[in-house]
Amino acid sequence: METNADMIAARREEILERITRALARADRTVDDVTLVAVSKTVGTDEVVAAIRAGYDTFGENRPQELVRKLAELNARPDVAPVRFDMIGNLQTNKINAVLGRASLIHSIRSLHLAQAVSSRAQRRIDTGELAGPVDVLLEVNVSGEESKSGFAPDEVRSCVEELMELSGISIKGLMTMAPQGDKDVARRVFSDLRDLRDELEVRTGARLRELSCGMSEDFEVACEEGSTIVRLGRVVFDPAFALQ
Ligand SMILES: *Cc1c(COP(=O)(O)O)cnc(C)c1O
Repeated sequence: METNADMIAARREEILERITRALARADRTVDDVTLVAVSKTVGTDEVVAAIRAGYDTFGENRPQELVRKLAELNARPDVAPVRFDMIGNLQTNKINAVLGRASLIHSIRSLHLAQAVSSRAQRRIDTGELAGPVDVLLEVNVSGEESKSGFAPDEVRSCVEELMELSGISIKGLMTMAPQGDKDVARRVFSDLRDLRDELEVRTGARLRELSCGMSEDFEVACEEGSTIVRLGRVVFDPAFALQ
């Protein structure tokens, strides 16, 4: 546990240095980017070590895990309160579990899911259980890989107005995952995501500030291409992960 906490703290310094350098190459500063530590493969003790190292935002891809870790952390008065984001597949029967708990849902992958989150959130707003609309991102399958989920870019273009009219949710931007293993391909995916965002902003007149992109293998490229939220798992928690 001790060495793991040391590893997590040392890694954080290295990650922040790399993010700062990548942002400087794009004339951006570290305040422009939120770092989400993806805790899906670790337990609450490691999350606590990460909080002590300075992380304040965590990401989970399973609703049950998000609920469990948040409850365990809330039961520890010695640990500072942190934010959890939902970054993975959200089935409609799990929406109620994350409402009011997840600060941002990165993974709205279809009009159907957006409508389901909208109606449940609006119901809670009406009863006073939720203070306001839930912040969400639209997950876009920019690379077109079969294995990836999300809206096709043309699908977002055709239903963005309908999505923006949904009550109970507030669309803050876009999210994507790049294919692994080739940084040039990843760079193109991230810049395509940014271009799509710019196009949707012009079309709708709405601000879509957030671009959630960049993972352990490609976060520096993502920062150069305009990412505002990087989601880092292995590089944060896995001692065997080698930063290149
Ligand atoms: C696991 C996961 C990550 C983190 O991946 P790493 O490569 O470990 O950094 C980011 N985003 C999503 C949606 C994930 O499921």
